[in-house]
Order: sequence, then C-alpha cells, then structure tokens
Amino acid sequence: GKRIGLLTSGGDAPGMNGVVRAVVRMAIHCDCEAYGIYEGYEGLVQGGDMIRQLYWEDVRGWLLRGGTLIGSARCAAFRERAGRLAAARNLILNGIDALVVCGGDGSLTGADVFRAEWTGLLDELVATGTLTAEQVAPYATLNIVGLLGSIDNDFSGTDATIGCYSALTRICEAIDDVFDTATSHRRGFVVEVMGRYCGWLALMAAISTAADWLFIPEMPPRDGWEEDMCSIITKNRDRGKRRTIVIVAEGAQDRNLNHIASAKIKDILTDRLHLDTRVSVLGHIQRGGPPCAYDRWLSTLQGVKAVEALLALTPDTPSPVVTIRENTIGVSSLAETVKLTQETAASIDAKQFDRAMTLRDSE
Ligand code: ATP
Repeated sequence: GKRIGLLTSGGDAPGMNGVVRAVVRMAIHCDCEAYGIYEGYEGLVQGGDMIRQLYWEDVRGWLLRGGTLIGSARCAAFRERAGRLAAARNLILNGIDALVVCGGDGSLTGADVFRAEWTGLLDELVATGTLTAEQVAPYATLNIVGLLGSIDNDFSGTDATIGCYSALTRICEAIDDVFDTATSHRRGFVVEVMGRYCGWLALMAAISTAADWLFIPEMPPRDGWEEDMCSIITKNRDRGKRRTIVIVAEGAQDRNLNHIASAKIKDILTDRLHLDTRVSVLGHIQRGGPPCAYDRWLSTLQGVKAVEALLALTPDTPSPVVTIRENTIGVSSLAETVKLTQETAASIDAKQFDRAMTLRDSE
C-alpha cells in the first residue's frame, strides 16, 4: 500500500480535523499508511519529527473539533524552490509517495507548483548528492490530491469549501445575538464579517438574517449608495422595524475601489439618520468552534474520496481536487480549478444578491 502524507495549510477551517480523521482511517482501511505532516508546508520543509505516522486511534474524536489539530502555518520557505527541494527530500526519506493537501487557494497553488517541479527536484537531489538515484527511483511521480478547506467559499468549481457553512452558522448566531440588543434599544448595528476578496459569507449571512443592507467586494454599490441605504432604512423604520443591521464584508469597496469601512457606514447612520449605531467586528470567532453538521459530513466524505482518488491515479492523470457539485462529491483537475479560481471572481451569484437586496426589509 501507499504511504500517504497529509497536511493542512493556510487559514484553519472547521472540518479540517474531520478530513484528517477520514483520510487516516480510509488509508488504513485500504492497507495504506498515513503520515501527519505538522504545521502545513513548514513541517514538510523541516521534516524530522514534524512528520509522524498516524494510527486509527490517534484521530478519535477529531470529527467534532474545530481548527486543525495537526497545525497550519504560512510557510515562506515553501514559496522558494530551495524549500520545495527540502520538502521533496523529506518526503522520500519518509517513504511518502502520495500527498493530501487541505487548504485554500494559496495552499493548492503551492501543491500544484510542487507537483509540476517534481521531476526536476528529484534530478537536483541526485545531482547534488543529497540522495542516490536508487533512493529516488521509486518516487518518479508524486501523487497529490487537494481538498478545499477554507471558510471563505472562494473557489470556483465547487459549491462549498470545507468550513464555510460552520463560519456562516457562527455569523448568523452572532447577528441573532446582536439583534436582541438592537431591537431593545432601537439601535443600528454595522456587522463586519470576514471576506477580503469574497463576499459569500456576507451575502449568505445577509439573506439568512434579513439584514437591511449589504456590502461585498464583488458588487460595489452605485454612486449615491449612501442615500439609497438611508432611504431603505428610513422606510423600514417607518414601517415599525426597531433595529437596523448592515452587513459589510471586510474587503467591501465602492466603484472607485475605495474601501467601504464599517466606521464610515456607522457615521452615515449616525449623522444622517441619527441612529444610535454601533460597529461589531466579528473577527476570529467566525473561524473557530466545532464544525456544523454539514462540515462534518463534507469533510468525512471528501476525505474518503481523496484517498480513493489517490489510489486511482495513473501517472498521466492530472492531480485532482475533491469537489462537491449539486450534492455530489467528485474530482476536478487541481491545476484547472486553481486557474479558474484566480481568473474568475469565485462564486457570487448576482441573482442571489438581488434577492437579498429586494427582501431585506422583510422580517
Ligand atoms: P486562506 O484561504 O486561508 O488564505 P491559503 O491556502 O490561500 O488559505 P496562503 O497563505 O495563500 O493561504 O497559502 C498557504 C501556504 O501555501 C503559504 O504559506 C505557502 O507556504 C504556500 N503557497 C502559497 N502560494 C504558493 C505558491 N505560489 N508557490 C508555493 N507555495 C505557495
């Protein structure tokens, strides 16, 4: 059987532990061995005890745990060829011939670069006398499978990334809590949620909490949005609504690419509408906490699929990434998915945005 290395990389996301559990157990079930590579690519570059075999019992209870228990890191060294050369050496020294990477856009780009360079890296390891030709011979191809772990849901080619529904759930709970105070005091709240480039969390939260207004990076509001926003809020208030909620993604901007800051929205509500307005920046509570039921399910089935995909790979198949589309788990080309994601503004659906904005005054 294969020796499968497994790492989580980039920002942590609820469900990453479910992936590790599923990959470890499915690997063992298929007569393979699983190796946890700790601290993301950092562990791959450093080797030594950062790479440890994981057994069935090691991952007991992990399905319910937030974050990632094998650690994650941003690793500058892996961005350089020298770092990837060290990583290749460490894989071979540990006898690892397959790699599962769970992370975001950057992490999967790194995996793709690594695979593309693999043959050249092996040649260099032999040429520099680091390893012998006999040592590298069994590792002619590197099989990599990617898993999309990110709270942002910022990938093309898949309906949901692992972690996004947990983060959305937490955001909705937090906004529900803010509602109570807002309603009690007839206040306005500007709630800032994560999303530097992708407004999926903000959009979904706005629909799910019936927010009054929404700002996301992909849909800059038209000029004069200040009046638009104030007139809707005034209308809602006149109809008896006691609280006002505006959701803003951290990367929201206007048509001139100026950042729309929470503080600015607060000032508009305060100055023009004389609303007692507070800003609530949800911050890292959005990322933490146990995965919701959907992410437990998704991480488990996708982890199983990752091992199946690895075992089915032939030398000519491109590296796959595990996806979910219309409730069906499948695989796509890793390189193509990464490319598509970088070319398109991910998955914002303009119709959903319109609906959010049309229904926003419903309670
Ligand atoms: P998040 O969605 O949370 O931002 P991410 O995976 O996109 O997650 P990054 O910080 O972009 O997070 O990437 C994680 C790590 O992947 C980097 O620290 C680096 O080690 C590696 N990486 C990213 N891009 C590349 C690249 N082009 N070449 C090689 N390695 C890369």
